[in-house]
Amino acid sequence: MIQMQRVKPMKLCQLESLHRRLDKSHPKQLPVEKALSSHAAGYRGEQAIDYHLTFVRPSHMIFHGLRLQDSSSYFQIDTLLVTPSFILIIEVKNIAGTLDFDPERFQMVRHLNGVAEGFSDPRLQVTRHYLQLERWLRYQKLPVPPIYRVVAISFPNTIIHAPSSSFGKVIHAAQLPYDIIDLEKKHPAPLMSAADMDNIASRLNRHHRPLNPDILTFFEMEPKDIKNGVICSACGAMPMQWQAGWKCEH
Ligand SMILES: [Zn+2]
Repeated sequence: MIQMQRVKPMKLCQLESLHRRLDKSHPKQLPVEKALSSHAAGYRGEQAIDYHLTFVRPSHMIFHGLRLQDSSSYFQIDTLLVTPSFILIIEVKNIAGTLDFDPERFQMVRHLNGVAEGFSDPRLQVTRHYLQLERWLRYQKLPVPPIYRVVAISFPNTIIHAPSSSFGKVIHAAQLPYDIIDLEKKHPAPLMSAADMDNIASRLNRHHRPLNPDILTFFEMEPKDIKNGVICSACGAMPMQWQAGWKCEH
């Protein structure tokens, strides 16, 4: 059962709005465009795993976009699955091409159209979340069942070369339901009661702190950099004029 619905991240909404209101010739146009396309792809990837999660038992609890505060910083988990016998942290990546994971240097190299591009290994990120979540549960004096972590690649055509690692698995999103069934078989006995589950759900919901960034500060911009006014919903032109109703000149 979905305990926390996926909502469009505030940063993505801000990027869309900024992109609409930035002059095409503005020097920040390119970095804004790049950030928008990467955040939009990330969000599409997260939405793409929803279908695969419809196959999990209704008694399992699903939290999308959960953001908690650790002792010093915040951490955000793409999708968290809480069951009576284990917890699974799912980090979603929507990346096309061929992905080579280097287990010694913790780098991920993406090959696409003859171009190699390096990323930090998402298994490091998901392992950090694992340590932070475990610490958070202990701090909250909540039960700590076995916690697993997985990186799910949501783009089905991506070719994954990932040697097994103690830092977690990298799988295609379509494999998620089967990995969850394997974990259910491995942990048949419930470690948490229905009351424990309710307690965890209400505590996670209560401590969720959605990110609300200041996008102008992020891009070192000022309010004067963006175009003001009402945007025409039909053609995108701005500003519209008020003449007993909003009128578009175009
Ligand atoms: Zn118009």
